[in-house]
Parts: sequence; C-alpha cells; structure tokens
Amino acid sequence: MKTDLLSGRHIGINDQDISLMLRKIGVSSLDELIEKTIPANIRLKKPLALPAPLSEYQFRKHIAGLARKNKKYTTYIGMGWYDTITPAVIQRNVFENPVWYTSYTPYQAEVSQGRLEALINFQTAVSDLTAMPLANSSLLDEATAAAEAVSMMYALRSRAQQKAEANVVFVDENIFPQTLAVMTTRAIPQGIELRVGKYREFEPSADVFACILQYPNANGNVEDYAKFTQKAHAADCKVAVAADLLSLALLAPPGEWGADIVFGTTQRFGIPLFYGGPSAAYFATRDEYKRNVPGRIIGQSKDKYGKTCYRMALQTREQHIKREKATSNICTAQALLATMAGFYAVYHGQEGIRSIASRIHSTAVFLEKQISQFGYKQINAQYFDTLRFELPEQVSAQQIRTIALSKEVNLRYYDHGDVGFSINETTDLEAVNVLLSVFAIAAGKDYQKADDIPTLCNIRTTLRRTSPFLTHEVFCKYHTETEMMRYIKRLDRKDISLAQSMISLGSCTMKLNAASEMLPLSMPELMGIHPLVPEDQAEGYRELIQNLSDDLKTITGFAGVSLQPNSGAAGEYTGLRVIHSYLESIGQGHRRKILIPASAHGTNPASAIQAGFTTVICACDEHGNVDMNDLRAKVEENKDELAALMITYPSTHGIFETDIKEICEIVHACGAQVYMDGANMNAQVGLTNPGFIGADVCHLNLHKTFAIPHGGGGPGVGPIAVAEHLVPFLPGHTLFGNSKNQVSSAPFGSAGVLPITYGYIRMMGTEGLTQATQTAILNANYLAACLKDTYGIVYRGANGFVGHEMILECRKIHEETGITENDIAKRLMDYGYHAPTLSFPVHGTLMIEPTESESLAELNNFIDVMLNIWKEIQEVKNREADKEDNVLINAPHPEYEIVNEEWEHSYTREKAAYPIESVRENKFWVNVARVDNTLGDRKLLPTRYGSFD
Ligand SMILES: *Cc1c(COP(=O)(O)O)cnc(C)c1O
Repeated sequence: MKTDLLSGRHIGINDQDISLMLRKIGVSSLDELIEKTIPANIRLKKPLALPAPLSEYQFRKHIAGLARKNKKYTTYIGMGWYDTITPAVIQRNVFENPVWYTSYTPYQAEVSQGRLEALINFQTAVSDLTAMPLANSSLLDEATAAAEAVSMMYALRSRAQQKAEANVVFVDENIFPQTLAVMTTRAIPQGIELRVGKYREFEPSADVFACILQYPNANGNVEDYAKFTQKAHAADCKVAVAADLLSLALLAPPGEWGADIVFGTTQRFGIPLFYGGPSAAYFATRDEYKRNVPGRIIGQSKDKYGKTCYRMALQTREQHIKREKATSNICTAQALLATMAGFYAVYHGQEGIRSIASRIHSTAVFLEKQISQFGYKQINAQYFDTLRFELPEQVSAQQIRTIALSKEVNLRYYDHGDVGFSINETTDLEAVNVLLSVFAIAAGKDYQKADDIPTLCNIRTTLRRTSPFLTHEVFCKYHTETEMMRYIKRLDRKDISLAQSMISLGSCTMKLNAASEMLPLSMPELMGIHPLVPEDQAEGYRELIQNLSDDLKTITGFAGVSLQPNSGAAGEYTGLRVIHSYLESIGQGHRRKILIPASAHGTNPASAIQAGFTTVICACDEHGNVDMNDLRAKVEENKDELAALMITYPSTHGIFETDIKEICEIVHACGAQVYMDGANMNAQVGLTNPGFIGADVCHLNLHKTFAIPHGGGGPGVGPIAVAEHLVPFLPGHTLFGNSKNQVSSAPFGSAGVLPITYGYIRMMGTEGLTQATQTAILNANYLAACLKDTYGIVYRGANGFVGHEMILECRKIHEETGITENDIAKRLMDYGYHAPTLSFPVHGTLMIEPTESESLAELNNFIDVMLNIWKEIQEVKNREADKEDNVLINAPHPEYEIVNEEWEHSYTREKAAYPIESVRENKFWVNVARVDNTLGDRKLLPTRYGSFD
C-alpha cells in the first residue's frame, strides 16, 4: 500500500485480502475475475490518460492554488444569489460532519429520525414564512422548482381547461431570466406555452391555465399582486409565486394574498454562494394539492408502540412506482442544504430572522436616501433589499463599474444602463460606506461616512407582514451555541451514516467521501463566489471546471461534458433533450420514442415522458439481460420513430450483459441514439466506458461513482457526457448568451461540490481509479460467494460472476416463513446496519453494493450478520421461534423497548439487542420501533405543528 496516495486509503482491500477473497470466489487472480466479468470486446485497450496522481498533501496545495485564483469581491449582484453568514455551529456540526453528509435518503425511517426531524423543521419554516400549509423537503433549485410548478398546475387543470386544451402559462416579464430559461426548456416538450407579459395588462383567456409571478420581482420591486390573484382565480387560473424566503419575514406572504404555489431558493438561509450551487429550493402549496407535490414530503407518523416519529410520506407518488405516469422525477434533491437552512431557522428563530431581514431592508432604505442625494434616481417604488438607480446625466455605468471594481465591489448592471445592488446579511457599516463612496465618486459628490444604520422601513402597510412565523418551540429553544450544538448532536445520534457502518445500498454506491476531498469546500475563496461575477474573478473555478470536464471526457470516452444537471434524473432529462435537439437538426425530430428495458430505474421512463417522448418497454430474459429477440422486434417495429435506447450498464441487475455492443449497433442501425444511464459507472471506470462501448450520451452520478457524499438525499451532480455530434446541443445559460437546453439556475449547476470529484479523480489517478473498479467488483463477488449457499443470488453474468453489486434472493424465505425482505432490512438495524436496496430492481429481493471502500473486516462482519439473520430465519422456519413473535418481524428493537420494565417477547432482550458479539463493540441504538407507514399518509402532518390526537 502506498500510504501517501489516496488510493491506499480509499480502497479498503489490500493484497493479502485479495488472495483470501479470490480463493473464496474460486478464481486465481483479480485479472481473471475481471476478464470473466466484463466482456472482452468492451475492455479498454490502454489505461486512461489522466494526469499522474497527487498525494493528499499535494492536492491540498493544488486546490488552494486554484482557489486563490478566484477573487473574492464584495458582491451585490443578487438575481437569486446573496451572500449570507453560515452560522459556524452549523458549518462545523452539519456541513463538515460526515454523520450528516454521508447519510442516505431517509427511506429507512427508523435509522433516519435525525435528518427527518431536521427536514421537517425546514418544511415548517418554509410553511410558516410563505403562509402555505404544506411544503416539501427541497427541490434542486429555484428554476427547476418553477418548472415543477408549471407541470403541477398543468396536471391540476380543471375539466373545462382540459377539454379546451388550455396550455398557456402567463409569466410576468419581471422574473429572473434563468428561471424563465429553465421553465422554457421544460415547457416545450410538454406542449406548454409560456406567454410572457406585464401582469398589470394580463387578461385571462380560455387557453391560460396558470400564472407565474415573482415577489419581489426581478428588478427588486415589490408588487401588490392581491387583485391580480383574485382576477386569475376568477378565471380558474392558478397562481404560482417565486418568492425570496427571507423577504417574507417583512412582506405579506403569498399565502395570505391567495397564491396556490410558492417556491424559490433557500440559499440565503446560511448556504454559501458556491459559485451558484448547491442550495435547496423550496416548494409550498395548499393542502388539497398534497398528492401532486413534486419531490419528497416528510410527515409525522407513529411507531408501532405509538411513539411520535417522522417518515417520508406519500411514497407511492414516486417515479419508482409510477414510472412513465410519474408527474415529477425527483430522486436526489438537496437534503443537506435543506437541513442546513432548516437549522439556520432554528438557530435564529423568529426574532433573529426578522432582525436579519430588517437590517437588510434598513440598509437599503438608508442607502436609497444617501445615494439619491448624489443625483441618482431610485426607481423601485417598494423594495426589500434591491435598489435600482437611473444615473445622473454626467455619470455612465462604465464609470461606476470602474470605480466599483477598484474597490473590489460587484454591482448589478442592467441592460438599459441602470445600476443597482441587492443588500445581504453580510452588508455591514464598512461595506455601506464603500457603496456610498462608489456612487459619490462617480457623481463627483462629497459624502459623509455613515456611523450607524438606523432601523428603517418604507414598506407600505398593506404589503407588510403582520402575522407571526416560526412559532413552534423548536424555533425558540436553540439560540445559544451550546444548545444548538447539542440539538444537532442529539439528532445525528439517531441516524445511521457511513460514520457508523457500511451502507450497502445497491445502485447508490455509498463509497468513502474522503476528508481530503471534502476540505476544499470550506475554503472561503470557493465558498463565497457569486455565479454571475465577471469571469476573471472566477478563474480558479473556471480552471477547476475545465480540468474536471476534461477528466470526465477521458473517463467516459466522450467529446463534451455539461456539469449543469443537479441530479442523475436531471442528467437523464438533459441528455434526452440534447438527443432531441440533434435529431431535429438532421431532420429527424419526428423520432419520439424511447426504448427502455423492463429492468430500468423508474427515473428512466419518467425522464423520457418529461422530455416529450413516449416509451416502448423491452423485455428482459430469465437471466435479467435484455431479451435480444424482443429488442430486435421492438427496434424493427419502431424503427422510424425511435429516438433512443436508454440503458443502464452494467444493468440494474448488476450484470455486464455480453451483448451490449450489439445492442448499440442494432439501435444505431435504425437511426436512433444510445443513452447510457451511468449510475453504475463504478463498475466501468478504467476498464471500459460508454464511449468505447458505443453509446452517444451518458450521465454520471458524481454523488455515486465520484465520491460526492449523498447528503441524506442531495446535493447531487448529474453531468452528461456526449459524443462529438451532440456537443453543439449541450445546455447553454441565458446569462451567458444562450439559453438552449438550459436545465439549472446556475451556469455550472452545483459548482461548489465539484472539488470533491476533482479531488477524487486527481488523487486516485488512472491506477487508483482502475483498482477501485476492480475492487468494487471483487467485493461484490466475495459477498456473493459467501451468501450464495444461504439466500442465493438472483442474477449472474455469462461466466457466473456478478458486477459491482448483486441481488440477494429473499422471495423463497417469504414463501416458507412469511418473513419479508423488509423484515430483514429492519432486523439489520438491530445489528447496526443500514439496509441494502429494498425491492429494486426485483421485488422481494435486496440489492447489495459493497463498494471498494470497505475493509475485509467490515465485509466479513456484514456477512456474519447476514448469516446470523439467516439462522434467525431458519428458527422461524423450524418453529424454534414463534411465527408471530420473533426477532425479525418485531425489528428493529428500540432502546426504550429493550430497557422497559416489561418484556413480553418469546425471546430474550439479549437476543433482540446483542444478537452477535461484534454488536457490543459498535451498537447503534435505534430510536423508534417500526414506523407506521399508513398512518402518516392517511393524515398528512408535514410540519411540526399538529398531531394525530
Ligand atoms: C440513482 C439512480 C438514478 C437517479 O439518480 P439521482 O441522482 O438520484 O436522480 C437513475 N438511474 C439509476 C440506475 C440509479 O441508480
């Protein structure tokens, strides 16, 4: 092991381990295993041409050098991004804490109570501030939230509107351009027209089903939309409002003047700018639309003994189940950032949030007064934080820009020569005086340094907020750092993350997120950069993005990369739109069908529909592979209409299908493209790649294969890589002059987390990455070898080996004993493990992906645990254990049950809580018993208020 290289620390298996494991698997070398696993005709002939690996120490210097190339100016550009103060207690205990950032989406509620509570705090804060009863637990960004609002309102059209085929959304012209651009990308394939105009001149008509407004609007002006909303409602049009959440501490919230949907970003709730992302969008609506809300909703529920707890509610709405009928397609969202924003609300409470908002507003009012005295005319009649000035005759915007830049200040320069700025939480007296000086000097005026900002408010009473918010006790109790730190700790103790044990979720690749990859995220020169600063202030980011894009091209074998999509599902959508644009350009725009194997992940069909296609499903054979005869038949049947095949490789069954090259050729022969879902790239890197195999486009889940942590359900990065002919159609950005196929608010999506992937690639190097892939495959095959004689493995490749993950058979167990895969998942919690992937892609099974990062000791412990559970299952089968009262169906056993005076089970407490010796060393005390999955859906309680009683 070369301990100075990350690969020696990242990969859990050493040479000695390898021999032991190979013996168990029954092959003589790692090379033999790989040869027998990956078809020869897709094996790369030479190693990837990546730069030589940097040591962890060298990378730290390298990234610091890049970060220094960014210039951190004081930035007032606004337009959806505002500097903010991340409370140190949140930065240190949440953002930089692996318990929070390495946990998975909280599907397993019993070991996720901490983050579920944090997310319901977020929902409660959003619900309070917007005055809407229901909020979800985050979307990708403000612009995609707008697109989701459009889709949701379209689905909710009245019968009359459906009959009239109403397909127009009225959009007020003063909406952020990036929001309009993404809405446009998403509306076109759905046949929805966006009609942009002045809201004051809006006249309802039969073809309009909804309206979108921004509050305060894109200029910063606060309009009174109450009458407009009444008029829209009278015409049966829904009204969705993009609102600045912080401004709602002072402004009458949209929920109080009739909005149906309120959405926006929560970035200014303590989330660094990160050159545009990640941050969490929020989405709030009326209770009656709960079944149409995109994304996840956390709700209250109870465990089986009646203890209040939390869970993800209404899960049946998900694309996993609804597939091509899904109305939204959110898997990875922005959980970690929502968690942080929720904690920001908890830490500040009503008084704190109001005083931050009030200070921002006071500063703006104060500056308006002062700067007006220099001869500038402020044109926002009502505003929260944003001023827009017409310049005095003798002053040009260029002059102001020059002076501002000399003082390291970025202002907002409007198209028509106006100059403005948005005040933020960090704007202090010193900054105010610099701003004053810029405007004074440009106008040739003297100015008096301010020595105090008085509390001021110029918001008209009718537009002022009078109602309270954040009144739940959680927003009142944790305002000291000690209390806050302990609250965060109390929550994180309730969660299983990678800091506890292996998380073997198949398809999710829960590998190490190395500290040396994570450290750069806290560098001020990477945290504090606004996405719209002049390019020369973001040179470090630009270079990082360029280098990373080049590396990803090398790894995928493709010619172009877009880092814009903020999740795998968003990548799928983007890739399909790129394919459509290309087909259109060659006169093949009529190709509107996507062929998808039956085993595909639910996001695939959902993406296809959202991207304006229909789906054709292709069967799989009994080995789990694409049924070649059916494929040929479906391609032939649809040869003139087929746009693309969407295929996951290795398949969602974890198998390297041997016919993949032929599959690509068959699809190409009819003039269609091949989209490769790259969720399973961890089995390809360095050994094969989508470009070499013959695909045209793939997405990568950087939060799976490329070491970005899962964050409890986001952030994610789902870049797409494409072949040469598709490069011209990659997403643009409206603020950089081209809005074609734009899919996210920020030009580079979640740029702030790219240093993780960059570090992973640059520190692992070609050899390390290739070893990682080999080890991932080795580990999965080792687990398969150890569990095949008990549970059994559902699918294997041509030579009897699995890829980087494997599906454990549980259906026979259910038949024989009544024990389900879910019972096994819950029982694993008593042993300190998070469940593998449940019932995907095959119902009644568990899919296990160990990744390369686990040590042999941990793999062996997991195997011991699985075998012990097998024994427990046999006890039920042999009637040694009670069919109705056994450790499996009663699992998990929470701490409060174990210590209870009464114990009425037919087995001992020790068997329940300490079923094998190793648990004693690393016991995870589950906090709640099995969560009631129906109660929380029957009565949805999406905030901390209210209860079942
Ligand atoms: C994870 C996954 C996706 C979805 O990716 P997100 O980033 O969660 O949107 C799509 N396809 C497959 C096969 C996956 O495993």
